[in-house]
Amino acid sequence: MRYFESYIDNSIKKLKDKNLYRQINYIDSSQDRYVYISGKKLLLLSSNNYLGLCNDKRVKKAAILAIEKFGCGSGGSRLTTGSHSLYNELEESLARFKGKESAIVFNTGYMANIGVLTAIADRDWVIFSDELNHASIIDGCRLSKAKIIIYKHCDMVDLDEKVRLYSKGKNIIVTDGVFSMDGDIAPLREIVNIAKKYKNIMTIVDDAHGTGVLGERGTGLVEYFDIKDEVDIQIGTLSKALGSEGGFVVGSRRLINYLKNKSRSFIYTTALSPASIASSIKSIEIISKQRNMRKELLEKSRWFKDRLQELGFDVLDSKTPIIPIIVGNSHKTLEFSQRLFEEGLYVQAIRPPTVKEGTSRLRITIMSTHTMKDLEFAIDKLYKIAKEIGVLEG
Ligand code: PMP
Repeated sequence: MRYFESYIDNSIKKLKDKNLYRQINYIDSSQDRYVYISGKKLLLLSSNNYLGLCNDKRVKKAAILAIEKFGCGSGGSRLTTGSHSLYNELEESLARFKGKESAIVFNTGYMANIGVLTAIADRDWVIFSDELNHASIIDGCRLSKAKIIIYKHCDMVDLDEKVRLYSKGKNIIVTDGVFSMDGDIAPLREIVNIAKKYKNIMTIVDDAHGTGVLGERGTGLVEYFDIKDEVDIQIGTLSKALGSEGGFVVGSRRLINYLKNKSRSFIYTTALSPASIASSIKSIEIISKQRNMRKELLEKSRWFKDRLQELGFDVLDSKTPIIPIIVGNSHKTLEFSQRLFEEGLYVQAIRPPTVKEGTSRLRITIMSTHTMKDLEFAIDKLYKIAKEIGVLEG
């Protein structure tokens, strides 16, 4: 026991020495433009609630009605007693929304990625994975025991070369749609073309951050590139633009039936509560009707990114509401975030292992509900503090 405790203490000390120790902030209010932490009012610039649906009256009402009719917990796993009829409604609605035959809902996006990769791939498969893919894809690849080949971020020459050299009988190319820490977009059309050029290559896209945000109808990256029938499996989450929780997969009826039978992260866990499922159904309905929310979100994001760039910040190739400010050093990034907190802004510092060593950053996310005044206030504070702590020169 003593050995175990000193092992833990040493590991924590190492994290602290490198400024990589993490602590949780407890928020006392709903996910809105402003949140309260320990009584302090902060402009929220780090939430994935892109369209403000977490706190939308219509969504909350749907959740309350679901609790009244179905109760709070689901009481069982999906294949036992947990599949209340709202699940059926949501899965049909997701399939329609994404224009695919069928859909399956998991408890989180993380579990959907793990569930798909491990149900499909095994030692006989090769998986080609972008170096900046989300942790849940990385974990799914590892758990599957397939041979993993990492290609350079969005580098199609590297991907083509690696597929040519290493593809075998059964292969997968898997990518984030929108990269969660950089805010850039995967070249999905080129990825699909590479898959077609070689034999037996399945394509999987995790469109966690594109769903509800990209495409004319807001259905995500596949619509944005107009390649609906060319991607084999689309994964997503209900926890970001949809303001609820849960993960999902859409594809052919055959694929979805297979996942229901083979996906351990689908089978061996208690189903989500009726309130979560009802909120997702309502959010899809709102997103399908209200295109203006998305338009506003993208316009505000573009404005914010352009302003930061004009001021000299490094925002990489962000094309979405996810806007990184690269700082580099983890200590400086933490200081930046803490100073912003003192000045009334909640902006998350992102450090290794979430991002590569030397690329620590602030991860800003814009919401359609932010006003221009909010965003101008944020720009002023970011600029002022960046100068004070030496992130920007001058
Ligand atoms: N994929 C990506 C690209 C993500 O950014 C996230 C969330 N951080 C997930 C999957 C996991 O989704 P969830 O939070 O619903 O588990």
